[in-house]
Amino acid sequence: MDLFKQEYEIIRKGEALLEEEIFSDEVGAKHYRALLRHYRKLFSQLRHLVKISDIQQNDLNHLNKQLVRLSQFDPLTGIPNRRRFEEELNREWRRHQRLGTPFSLIMIDIDHFKQYNDTYGHSAGDDCLRKVAQALSVAVNRPADFVARYGGEEFVCVLPQTDGQGAVAVGQRLCDMVSLLAIPHAGSSIGKYVSISLGVATLACPTADHAIQDIITAADACLYNAKESGRNRLDSVSL
Ligand code: GH3
Ligand code: MG
Ligand code: MG
Repeated sequence: MDLFKQEYEIIRKGEALLEEEIFSDEVGAKHYRALLRHYRKLFSQLRHLVKISDIQQNDLNHLNKQLVRLSQFDPLTGIPNRRRFEEELNREWRRHQRLGTPFSLIMIDIDHFKQYNDTYGHSAGDDCLRKVAQALSVAVNRPADFVARYGGEEFVCVLPQTDGQGAVAVGQRLCDMVSLLAIPHAGSSIGKYVSISLGVATLACPTADHAIQDIITAADACLYNAKESGRNRLDSVSL
């Protein structure tokens, strides 16, 4: 009640004055009593308004949090979405350009996912996406490592301060994690279970002359090679 300390004090003093009967005539006392009553009423309305404003502020904070979640996380899988990925990527990229330390990126794509949907239905396809997203997310260890849903059945993994060797090791772990899920895929021509293909690109020493698009294009090209050479594998490049 510290917020209204002064107001409580005014009411207390007003009541004390009335009790002390300091007014020489009844008319003065009556006016003073009426004034005090109005003051109490106004004060009560003020407290009410402050309460409403507090509730509205809480609602607003809650909505703001929801908005951030909706704008940054993929509703289907619960992992960060492409927008969040791009924000993180740009931040990390600028940092690495300043530091000149190795930076890696992995593009990931589920193999024959159209066939999966065709075989088991779209809802089972959604379940599969959730499981793969979770498996990929838990496979990265360092706090700055980052997995996001890039779109459709594609994911992306950002690996700050990670050289080519480290990135290939992470890529292999991502592959293994999805294999461990052992999600049956009767429609796949390359195995009994759902698998992924990966493109791993590393920029050993980023400088101001490099563009972030270079590493994205390189990872994409590696993913294309992995698909072309049989899927369920990774291809890598160091720039
Ligand atoms: P490839 O091995 O060459 O990657 O083949 P693919 O079938 O995985 O690739 P393609 O691009 O032909 O098909 C991707 C499929 O992913 C088609 C689309 O319906 C499905 N897909 C994309 N987003 C979702 C989704 O949110 N839920 C479900 N269930 N399916 C999705
Ligand atoms: Mg795809
Ligand atoms: Mg695919």
